[in-house]
Amino acid sequence: RADLSGKAAFIQGGSRGIGAAIARRLAADGAAVALTYINAADKAQALVSEIEAAGGRALALKADSADAVALKNAIRHAVERLGRLDILVNNAGVLALAPLDEFSLDDFDRTLAVNVRSVFVATQEAARHMNDGGRVINIGSTNAERMPFPGGGPYAMSKSALVGLTRGLARDLGPRGITVNNVQPGPVDTDMNPDSGEFAQTLKEMMPLNRYGHADEIAGFVSYLASAEAGYITGASLSIDGGFSA
Ligand code: NDP
Repeated sequence: RADLSGKAAFIQGGSRGIGAAIARRLAADGAAVALTYINAADKAQALVSEIEAAGGRALALKADSADAVALKNAIRHAVERLGRLDILVNNAGVLALAPLDEFSLDDFDRTLAVNVRSVFVATQEAARHMNDGGRVINIGSTNAERMPFPGGGPYAMSKSALVGLTRGLARDLGPRGITVNNVQPGPVDTDMNPDSGEFAQTLKEMMPLNRYGHADEIAGFVSYLASAEAGYITGASLSIDGGFSA
């Protein structure tokens, strides 16, 4: 397991699902964690209490990732409270699905603001505070590689954008030994994509492993990328998707 003791992490969107699993795992591996949420204050606070009860250090901050000022302020506040910043996890994301004719421009714009622009904004601010040898880990999607159902073009576009953004940011931060990578999960059982019903069954049939992933499996991969051992991986988009894109 990674030894992240003495490190501090900032996780955009850490109150539920994959982000919460990442917060739990990075804390268990020794990092102090700051996590943001937009609505689920109760869940974010419960997670902080859980991490503290296990002997870790955590704080929850309300910040809409679509609001650049709020997001930057949250990062600055976390750095003040935790005293440093080593790991940024850009996990906040939204999934809007609708038939082409009904897809609203508001949903299109929000998808870009939360899934893409926030990654740029947070990385720009985090880089001002991050120690050399730090880590930026984006949560993309296997839908950047394969989009096998209709209605999700803007979502797939947003996650494909992260592939290029990750490459470019790796060039910006490489000279400081900061790596930037993009983790592309396949279907993972969360509120966004519950492992139940007909849609889930259809997705499972597309995968060699024929099952949903667990948020803990994504968190374990993120922890590895955050570790010293992964220091030669950068600019990469890495799928952890049960073979969805195979
Ligand atoms: P969930 O909807 O279960 O959780 C989303 C998390 O992001 C919550 O903590 C939520 O906060 C937070 N969040 C959403 N919008 C904002 C915002 N504007 N500002 C701040 N926080 C926000 O999603 P998942 O855990 O399933 O997904 C996490 C990431 O993984 C996303 O980027 C998603 O695209 C990606 N992904 C998910 C897959 C899946 O199958 N589940 C597959 C591939 C990629 P709050 O609780 O306050 O609402």
